[in-house]
Amino acid sequence: MDAAVIDAPLPERLARAITLAGPISLAQYMGAANAHYYATRDPLGRDFTTAPEISQMFGELIGLWLADLWDRAGRPLAAYVELGPGRGTLAADALRAMAKAGLTPAVHFVETSPTLRSAQAERVPGAIWHNDTTTLPGDIALLVIANEFFDALPIRQLVRGGDGWHERLVACQDTLFLPIAGKQVPDAILPPALRDAAPGSVIETSPASVAVMRGLAGRIARQGGAMLTIDYGYQGPAIGDTLQAMRAGVYANPFEAPGEHDLTAHVDFATLCAAAKAEGAASFGPVDQGGLLIALGIDARAAVLGDSVRADRDRLVAPDQMGSLFKAIAITAPDWPQPAGFA
Ligand code: SAH
Repeated sequence: MDAAVIDAPLPERLARAITLAGPISLAQYMGAANAHYYATRDPLGRDFTTAPEISQMFGELIGLWLADLWDRAGRPLAAYVELGPGRGTLAADALRAMAKAGLTPAVHFVETSPTLRSAQAERVPGAIWHNDTTTLPGDIALLVIANEFFDALPIRQLVRGGDGWHERLVACQDTLFLPIAGKQVPDAILPPALRDAAPGSVIETSPASVAVMRGLAGRIARQGGAMLTIDYGYQGPAIGDTLQAMRAGVYANPFEAPGEHDLTAHVDFATLCAAAKAEGAASFGPVDQGGLLIALGIDARAAVLGDSVRADRDRLVAPDQMGSLFKAIAITAPDWPQPAGFA
């Protein structure tokens, strides 16, 4: 490819690729759009806000959750690993709380965005960055946190037509992107309970998410450690199109202006837990974020911090705010103790 094509804006590059080689998979479209989106901006507090940006209590309680588990596991040599750490706020709060509990691990961040890597470096000096999980340390326990990470990973969608199920692809007309039905897929790849869903039904899978979970769960099972994943999602497999685009807190069309909106999909917790178990790890949850934070002592911490954090506490915990929409699952090495808050 000549330099002019490589430097062209993302929509032009995607349109050209589709014109040359035909429609692309939804996963390819979402992956390219989000890579561009995160590489070119810090969206936190502008396009959307996350729990660690709402209150320091979130990261502190997660740090104490890890420190407690690590302590009861016999205080092995361990690394703190965070997937998609955003501005590094959660890590900074968690590391401060962990240090008070005697845990001062090396810090490893899995982050592809250069913009967010520099934000993280400001808050957590001395971190080591990775493009993916394959280069993480292979010989010590891993204490892994993923908050609103899996929802940003690419999904596939299968759409029920009159004659069976089809992979959803993304086509391009002039400069407009649009979803179309691709080749029919064999019914055998669909969960039996969902095969006869009504025409128009959508089933989502995220092979990228399953690959990340399998890789980490396998390492945790062998090396020791634990992982806490917090996100919004469901117990799949299930019917439903959850792909959404957001900019400045407002929903947009996911097929408009790729790379300029945050594209997300709901996370299938049941499938992630099954992937972890298949690699020999133990899995817990999902539990509601609100219930977990209460079990970990958010009200005692809020009482210490005073009246000014009351609204933040409610935003994280209340069922009509983030408390029930967001859920947590925990993965541990099979010989590690039971994690707090997942009774
Ligand atoms: N965990 C943070 C940020 C959530 S936004 C918080 O709670 O505030 C999603 C994060 O995942 C960003 O840091 C983004 O750059 C990162 N990310 C998205 N896709 C990624 C990928 N494929 N590999 C690594 N990091 C990714």
